[in-house]
Amino acid sequence: MTIIDGKKVSKAVREELKLEAATLKNKGIVAGLAVIIVGNDSGSKVYVKNKVLACEEVGIKSFHYQFSEDIQKEELIFLIKELNSNQQVNGILVQLPLPKHLSEREILSYIDPNKDVDGFSAYQMGKLVLGESGFPCCTPSGIMELFRHYNINLEGKRAVVIGRSNIVGKPMALMLTAANATVTVCHSKTVNLQQITKEADILVVAIGRSRFVTADMVKEGAVVIDVGMNRVDGKLCGDVDFEEVSKKCSFITPVPGGVGPMTVTMLMKNTIGAIKRNE
Ligand code: NAP
Repeated sequence: MTIIDGKKVSKAVREELKLEAATLKNKGIVAGLAVIIVGNDSGSKVYVKNKVLACEEVGIKSFHYQFSEDIQKEELIFLIKELNSNQQVNGILVQLPLPKHLSEREILSYIDPNKDVDGFSAYQMGKLVLGESGFPCCTPSGIMELFRHYNINLEGKRAVVIGRSNIVGKPMALMLTAANATVTVCHSKTVNLQQITKEADILVVAIGRSRFVTADMVKEGAVVIDVGMNRVDGKLCGDVDFEEVSKKCSFITPVPGGVGPMTVTMLMKNTIGAIKRNE
């Protein structure tokens, strides 16, 4: 059994990105990422801090905008429009979740699709559905990078994704399909979940329920990817019972240190990619 080391892969990808950023700098181009955060959610603040630090590490200039919880949508939309036309900004990211009075879909729809480095807009999602290159959502594309680094062959494999969110489950299923796996998507209304998961050569779990997937749900030798990030007694744990499932599978991602480090790194990759696409 191999524990997939997301930190190691993330570091390797960031080293490549540093070189790309340096090459661009020699041409007088500095990549820029604008990060917008609304409110005081402590989790969101940590994510934003990590993104700003990752920018510094790779050589991307970050522009950080913090707004109070009660900001009106017009103000936010005004800033996004300004950033859309700012030549120094190649990528725009609105940290989710937004406060209840703001529609996330509406706010995100104002981001120029060519600067939507999170890949959450209808345009970028549509590109993914059509199999065209664009900015793939960072968490599932980070998982695809992990498969590549560990030479995990997906072609012809039976893949099961538990979770159908727009940011993880759905794009993950599309990426696995594009890699020629045969994919089943499960959710909270799925009947006989265990029967389906037990057939999976590749099992991706993104539901947000701590240690939900137990060893009796997993096929011997399966590759298990745990996207979940749950706090239990102050400690971070995944959606998979790591201790028991790891005895049965061929590859598994730990939490923390598996999928998590890849998400921010793929955001950096999309931001550098935004320049390369427009060169
Ligand atoms: P989400 O939007 O809450 O979606 C959860 C999905 O899980 C839904 O499709 C839901 O089904 C399904 N689900 C919930 N309970 C289930 C059950 N008992 N059986 C089967 N399916 C069930 O969550 P998300 O944003 O995708 O995030 C999922 C987890 O990944 C969270 O722990 C989150 O913190 C983590 N995450 C990690 C990263 C990272 O970088 N590592 C990035 C994003 C998310 P329905 O559609 O039927 O409701």
